[in-house]
Amino acid sequence: MQCRICSNKENNTTYEAREMMLGLRDLHTYFKCGSCGCLQIANVPENIQEYYPSDDYYSYDQIKTETGFKKKLITLRDRYAATGEGFIGKVLQMRMPHDKLPQLQKTGVTTDSKILDVGCGAGHLLHTLRECGFNHTHGIDPFNTKNIQYSNGLTIKQQSIHDVTETGWDLIMLNHSFEHVLDQHETLTQIKKLLKPGGVCMIRVPTVSSWAWDHYGVNWVQLDAPRHFFLHSQESMQVLADKIGLELRATVYDSFAFQYWGSEQYLKDIPLQDERSYAVNPDKAPFDDTQIQNYAIRSKALNAEQQGDQAAFYFHKAEA
Ligand SMILES: [Zn+2]
Repeated sequence: MQCRICSNKENNTTYEAREMMLGLRDLHTYFKCGSCGCLQIANVPENIQEYYPSDDYYSYDQIKTETGFKKKLITLRDRYAATGEGFIGKVLQMRMPHDKLPQLQKTGVTTDSKILDVGCGAGHLLHTLRECGFNHTHGIDPFNTKNIQYSNGLTIKQQSIHDVTETGWDLIMLNHSFEHVLDQHETLTQIKKLLKPGGVCMIRVPTVSSWAWDHYGVNWVQLDAPRHFFLHSQESMQVLADKIGLELRATVYDSFAFQYWGSEQYLKDIPLQDERSYAVNPDKAPFDDTQIQNYAIRSKALNAEQQGDQAAFYFHKAEA
């Protein structure tokens, strides 16, 4: 088997991983590259689309929009979370944090930035950004069934990155979509083309350079066979950056308690969608609140040690 990232064929290690989100439990072969460390699926199943829940995987209409004073506060919090600006927003973010926006701060975006979210599903994150003043945000997802038009002006197109022609983006981000993409080099090459000089590509993915992979192996919940084609290592992301000609400037770990309780469930043969799953029935799950809180605390510690099971990778395009 040849690594799709670095082309190495030597010293690869194979693993058999079960489908455990839906609970089908069928086996899929993965191999870990002996050179760059990327864990990847050996063969993509021909019926891969059957591994995605069909009905309402993304809930288009369920974006809750607050009104009045609460909306104002949330707007201030979210703008601070994304840009690092505004004192009241800072206090609010400390008290009830938004967990996906702070990763944007490292990209240097402002409310004037042109932002493209690739593989954004219903576009919840973009919707939040629109609500707090980011007016140049757009989303695409080739797996949506239709284009989506929100009343605040946000449009989500059913489109592949390869069909985007508009250039000059300040930020192109992929929030847990890159691991589902088979043509890794081509996708990143296209992104580089679309970014403005000095622009940033932020890729948030699960990573095999983590305690969870070392500890749980094929029962690691974010391996997610066979939907995740690539579980990158720090090294394999660097290989991609070098090959494409982007600078990998930073990696920020942002894992959470899911890596513990999800993987513990798989060890006990409890799928994510099972009646006994914490995701379905917290009361019937084999964890109490103290344990879940403990998992959250331990996840923060793992992130600080660069050992969490997911991270944001920041690729910079050179200035002209
Ligand atoms: Zn490799």
